[in-house]
Amino acid sequence: MANSKYEYVKKFEVEDKLPPCNWVILRIDGCHFHRFSAVHDFEKPNDVNALMLMNSCAVAMLEHFPDIAFDYGVSDEYSFIWKETSQFYQRRASKILSLGVSFFTSMYVIKWRDFFPHKELKEPPYFDARIVCYPRAKIVRDYLSWRQVDCHINNQYNTCFWKLVQSGKSEKEAQELLKGTLAKDKNEMLFTQFGINYDKLPAMFKKGSCVYKDHVEETVKIDEAGNPVKRRRQMVVVDHIDIIGNKFWKDHPNILKED
Ligand code: ATP
Ligand code: ATP
Ligand code: MG
Ligand code: MG
Repeated sequence: MANSKYEYVKKFEVEDKLPPCNWVILRIDGCHFHRFSAVHDFEKPNDVNALMLMNSCAVAMLEHFPDIAFDYGVSDEYSFIWKETSQFYQRRASKILSLGVSFFTSMYVIKWRDFFPHKELKEPPYFDARIVCYPRAKIVRDYLSWRQVDCHINNQYNTCFWKLVQSGKSEKEAQELLKGTLAKDKNEMLFTQFGINYDKLPAMFKKGSCVYKDHVEETVKIDEAGNPVKRRRQMVVVDHIDIIGNKFWKDHPNILKED
């Protein structure tokens, strides 16, 4: 049945293979989540359940797509780092992007009930997605640092903004009060006006979330002599740590190891 007279239409398709030996970053971001979060009454500035739902979907991504080496997420966005050696769908950008974002979105809907058992999903969540290629692990690290710095700046601003609003200021007034303030001014404001020590806020809010495979030691049984029998196992972990400095990457050299 091949070669019907209609088959020429295939020739209009364009090739979209990503360059070899590049790390592939897929970043997704919730579409209109300002509204989506209001409709579903997310706690401001950080709804813990909403963040944990995002993290749970990111874990599912790492478990489902074997070529993903690392995920980093904050707010309504997540970045997925695909190994530079990946041959997933011959590295076709449209396949990686569309399969990744649709899998994540389906997971978000399926898992919604687990994190919001008493909240109806009132609007379809949907995400935009883009792909960027980076030829070196160093640039991938700079990319991740860029996202984590952004997380910190936004979180500090949003924490101040919502504290001001919750204390009776209008959103416009809060915005005016924060205009031109530096990081130390915001920390000062949080401490003196609201008794909040920024450093003591949960790491998930300040640092975002990392998802990766790590070796963990677990006790599989106790032998006859009463000693624990341990086994090293690879497990997907979710962590809220600094990925700007060298320590994390020194401790986990395999994540961004190049071929
Ligand atoms: P766009 O469609 O351009 O992405 P957006 O409304 O999604 O627009 P973003 O810049 O992506 O805007 O910001 C995400 C918005 O979603 C923020 O306004 C934030 O308040 C809200 N949001 C996302 N996650 C949470 C959360 N866990 N808790 C509270 N609010 C959240
Ligand atoms: P790929 O991941 O490459 O798209 P695929 O398994 O999805 O692989 P397709 O060429 O897209 O393959 O074909 C869709 C398959 O799904 C068919 O083999 C067909 O048997 C099955 N399928 C799709 N819709 C239906 C349906 N309504 N009823 C029964 N089978 C269906
Ligand atoms: Mg968004
Ligand atoms: Mg966003």
